[in-house]
Amino acid sequence: MSRRADAIRRAVHPLARYLRRTCPSDRPVHVRVCRCRLVYGDCERAATAYRIRVNDDQDVDSAVGTLLHEWAHALSYGLDGDEEHGAFFEAAERLVFEAYHDRDRG
Ligand SMILES: [Zn+2]
Repeated sequence: MSRRADAIRRAVHPLARYLRRTCPSDRPVHVRVCRCRLVYGDCERAATAYRIRVNDDQDVDSAVGTLLHEWAHALSYGLDGDEEHGAFFEAAERLVFEAYHDRDRG
């Protein structure tokens, strides 16, 4: 496993734990850092949970941004109809980024 992938895991998993407390979704959100055929990551809804994948082949800041973006998909899943990044998604993304910046401020 690469050092960069390790660094991504050390950033992404604690942030996911934080988001579970501060931006909970309607079902559990599982997060996996993996080498996947995606540029950044994705979010899918399974029967009982959301599954977020974050590609480990990107820099750490980009991986953190990916988690925040995909978390907003978990919060707004299905609300925007056919639009991938509609108004509900944008509102969810603002919430998630605000929570992230609050955490940064301690
Ligand atoms: Zn998206």
